[in-house]
Amino acid sequence: MYDYLIVGAGFAGSVLAERLANGLGKKVLICDTRPHIGGNAYDHYNDDGILIHKYGPHIFHTNSQDVFDYLNKKIGPSEQTAYVEKGADEADKTYADTSKLRRAIGFAPDTSMQDGLEKFVDWFKHYK
Ligand SMILES: Cc1cc2nc3c(=O)[nH]c(=O)nc-3n(C[C@H](O)[C@H](O)[C@H](O)COP(=O)(O)OP(=O)(O)OC[C@H]3O[C@@H](n4cnc5c(N)ncnc54)[C@H](O)[C@@H]3O)c2cc1C
Repeated sequence: MYDYLIVGAGFAGSVLAERLANGLGKKVLICDTRPHIGGNAYDHYNDDGILIHKYGPHIFHTNSQDVFDYLNKKIGPSEQTAYVEKGADEADKTYADTSKLRRAIGFAPDTSMQDGLEKFVDWFKHYK
């Protein structure tokens, strides 16, 4: 018996499933019509060792100078990291609000930005 059924294993569903399972100890079933997790951001290596972005190219970008500086320091500046001005078609501001999620399932982030970045760097170095 599961506590939660999550339909869609993209970023949103995968992160929610992970947080419910590891953060709150819930038993979660996650399903997707696609045969993989990651949704539109899914990528995989083909037989020639080339990384394929199946649903279109994805890059990590941030509008936080702190995040940019931290990652450059930890991962090292390279051709993969560059500072570019915001594109004309990008939103000036976003207003992510998790209060409804908190009300619905009692979820509250327990990872600070600093810890989260460090975990991300560890993951990235391993994944590379
Ligand atoms: C071409 C392209 C390029 C992009 N580039 C970037 C980038 O460079 N950087 C960046 O940060 N973001 C980028 N994005 C945006 C990023 O892909 C999305 O913000 C992110 O994937 C959204 O995650 P999500 O979980 O909300 O949705 P999705 O990734 O769309 O995942 C939803 C999942 O739900 C599944 N699903 C839907 N309905 C059902 C159903 N009824 N039953 C079962 N499963 C279902 C789908 O199959 C899918 O796997 C790009 C998007 C595209 C399309």
